[in-house]
Amino acid sequence: MSLEALCLKCGLCCDGTLFTHVALTVEEARRLAGRVELQSNEKAGVLRQPCSALERCRCTVYADRPQGCARFVCMLGAALQANEVGFDEAQRTVEKAQALRDAINKLVPGIGTPIGRARQYEDRGPDAETAVAVREARRALEAFVRRHFLGRSGT
Ligand code: SF4
Ligand code: SF4
Repeated sequence: MSLEALCLKCGLCCDGTLFTHVALTVEEARRLAGRVELQSNEKAGVLRQPCSALERCRCTVYADRPQGCARFVCMLGAALQANEVGFDEAQRTVEKAQALRDAINKLVPGIGTPIGRARQYEDRGPDAETAVAVREARRALEAFVRRHFLGRSGT
């Protein structure tokens, strides 16, 4: 099974779990304007995550996706491509990361990235006990994605 098959079950590099945004060139910002939600300045643009082009782990602008997206391969994906990890194990790792993300989403629902929402609640949330649970959930997700997803990219 291929990396593409894994990505179609994952979406973590597009949904705000691994990243907060993707930088765009002027041309990419022009190409994607009106098709995804962009924050632009005069020189270039920023595609904020969770990306509005993501639908059920699928990129709806795949043929026109930015280079920053096209070039990225997470560490788990690179390990799968190199046969250092099997598909089933890689899928279990994705599911574990999604469960950690969902635990934050359940504690702190809303818009924006899970880690961003968690940090906001830790700083300004109304309930101290919940803030402790949010901090633990946020640290668990950060440690897991650092260990399994970040650190190697295919450029
Ligand atoms: S985080 Fe890795 S496995 Fe998941 S969609 Fe991105 S490249 Fe694919
Ligand atoms: S443009 Fe496509 S590949 Fe890039 S972040 Fe959005 S959904 Fe992911």
